[in-house]
Amino acid sequence: MNLAADPQRRRCYRLLLTWLWVTLLVLGIEAIAGWATRSLLLFAEALHTFIDAFSTVLSLVAVASAQRPLGREVWGHGRAEVAGTLAAVSLLGFTGLSLVFTALSQLFSAVTSSADAFRVALDRPVVYLMVVLLALSLAIAAYAYYRIQDFGSLALMLHTQHVLGDVWLSGVTLVGLIAIWQQQTWVDPVLAVGLTVFSISSLWQVLGDQLPTLLRPMAIAPEAIAQIVTQIEGVTRCVRIRSRGLVGRQVWVELHLIIHPEFAGVAHIVGERVEAALRLQYGPLRAQIWVEDAPPNQAAYLQYPQTEWTEPESTPDNWLEGG
Ligand SMILES: [Zn+2]
Repeated sequence: MNLAADPQRRRCYRLLLTWLWVTLLVLGIEAIAGWATRSLLLFAEALHTFIDAFSTVLSLVAVASAQRPLGREVWGHGRAEVAGTLAAVSLLGFTGLSLVFTALSQLFSAVTSSADAFRVALDRPVVYLMVVLLALSLAIAAYAYYRIQDFGSLALMLHTQHVLGDVWLSGVTLVGLIAIWQQQTWVDPVLAVGLTVFSISSLWQVLGDQLPTLLRPMAIAPEAIAQIVTQIEGVTRCVRIRSRGLVGRQVWVELHLIIHPEFAGVAHIVGERVEAALRLQYGPLRAQIWVEDAPPNQAAYLQYPQTEWTEPESTPDNWLEGG
């Protein structure tokens, strides 16, 4: 781990580490609350939080194992990551299946016998506690989203996108908890099954998005990307190109565009066209495109404020002056 040399990466690492602790705290409280109230929904939410924690760990590994800030990163793909991923996936699979079976058997006995099958008992403090926990998770995600330009980290971006993309799941959970508190106990197993299914698909997405970033340092030659990108109308130059993943499966591309002043107002359209052109060529692809205009914005020049797109000596192969 060579974080000392790069304050930006170090701050990113620190943010992710804080995020991990907050997520683990939320996970612990959810599990205890689920145990105390016998709520399957709270257990399902804890399962989902566990996936978020797993996603945070993957991002941390990606940030920590990058040997140089902008250079050819050496990504760890050792036994530890493989074993950890397998352990997490099997734990989640086992817990998820147990949850679904318990919920289904509760629903089944509720239908077949008149006795009260749902043993969940929620009171007001639990609902309040969950509101606070979900607000805390949302706050840290919103902060990361707000600062994402400063950090310029793919791993952080993927994780933030994942968490923000799942916000609606937390909203549904909260509505469900309020319903259970209002004695609608049947909601508990029904939503628990739904949330578990979504959590598993969410895990699938985390693996699909984040594992490629741990695998291949460079998926496509920067020259080839610059060749395509500079053909798009309005693009003057294309620099700082990085790509990872597996062409045909999932590729992640990060690049900085210098666009013609006339196109400054429609920069987002140029960006969309760039992404479309790359996707046409390389298949499934996620692009993070930074647009630079004439007065260089701070985010892009944060690392090397004095050098104007000249190559830092340690990273000769990833910086490219296109067009
Ligand atoms: Zn999630």
